[in-house]
Amino acid sequence: MVPELAYPLHNSSAQEEIPANILGVSPLSLSSSKMLSLISLSRPAPLTWIAGFFIFVYTLTMGYRMGVDVGGTKTEICILAFEGRDYTQYQVLHRERFPTDRTGNLNSFLRTLKAHVQAALKHSNLDLSALESVGVGLPGSINPVTQVMSQGSVAFFKDKNLHQEFKSALGFKGEMLFDNDANCFALAETYLGAGRNWTQANQVPMNRLCLIGVILGTGVGGGLVIEGRLIRGSRGGAGEIGHITLVESGHPCYCGKFGCAEQYLSGTAFQRFYSARTSALEHLSGAEIFKRADENDPLAVASIEHYRDYLVTFLSNLSNLLDPHVIVLGGGMSTQPRIYPGISERLSKGCFLTENPPAVLPNTCGDSAGVLGAALLPLFTGTEFDWETTQ
Ligand SMILES: [Zn+2]
Repeated sequence: MVPELAYPLHNSSAQEEIPANILGVSPLSLSSSKMLSLISLSRPAPLTWIAGFFIFVYTLTMGYRMGVDVGGTKTEICILAFEGRDYTQYQVLHRERFPTDRTGNLNSFLRTLKAHVQAALKHSNLDLSALESVGVGLPGSINPVTQVMSQGSVAFFKDKNLHQEFKSALGFKGEMLFDNDANCFALAETYLGAGRNWTQANQVPMNRLCLIGVILGTGVGGGLVIEGRLIRGSRGGAGEIGHITLVESGHPCYCGKFGCAEQYLSGTAFQRFYSARTSALEHLSGAEIFKRADENDPLAVASIEHYRDYLVTFLSNLSNLLDPHVIVLGGGMSTQPRIYPGISERLSKGCFLTENPPAVLPNTCGDSAGVLGAALLPLFTGTEFDWETTQ
């Protein structure tokens, strides 16, 4: 079943309300003592006790989990409330964002994070001890065993004992897990987004689903889910697809190699390709170039087709390696409808297996995929995950 969301997750505004229930307020947004006092205003005492008992039992069945998505420019946190152990039944109690100060240090980041975590808990009428887990997505490669970030775009996270630093700064004693932000994207799209929708439409069980999340943003990143499980590799480097060689001896990449996929498939690369061919070296945004294509600007149309050629080659290579059911695209380029027509059919020509090529789909969790996936990390990769029974 597709989870019913409290409000559209594509909407990134931070302070949104949970829809009212029969009491006129959501039980998820009130502590049980407040709900009891609300009921006691309008009910005789015995009914108040009975209602209080049921609310107490209801509260016991709720689980609260926090997600933290640290990006290079902004950090987002959310608190999710789950009904019992069913991850498909949840509501977003609160979300908020704040800028990531990459010029600061780990201590200053954690001080800011703590203030926002406390504000989020207060807004949700929860104590820190009510959180069962905190999952954190970081822009880098996180060793799945040591939980240390070995490579990443925010330097102050590198080579630190993240467990110890985060837990002691937040005063949190529950389960905490760290993972790559693109892995979080793939996890959210698998269990809450495009992947889950696809399994329902095609009657494939979740523990069979093979999905590749491909982020085409300012950089290119990826997350791999094979038979329902997130694949991290031996050092946490699985899914670093942006640095697969796409063009032999091609453009130089900041990683030190030449011809990396990121140099051809990022939004930045797309803009650079167009701008280098304009007479005045115009610097347009990706969206502006797509708009020009809609107005039949020949260079814009040619730039998009050139981009799609590289994308088909790239996705074909990924498909030959992992044979996914679904490839879910994220990042700025994925929001452009002109990317998709015919791409799945073209993929089949580049795959060894030509029948039933992977479906290439836009994401459905929007820019909340990272923080939702982070909140899911302990559910699907932590001590509680039982993939054999995951349906
Ligand atoms: Zn590279």
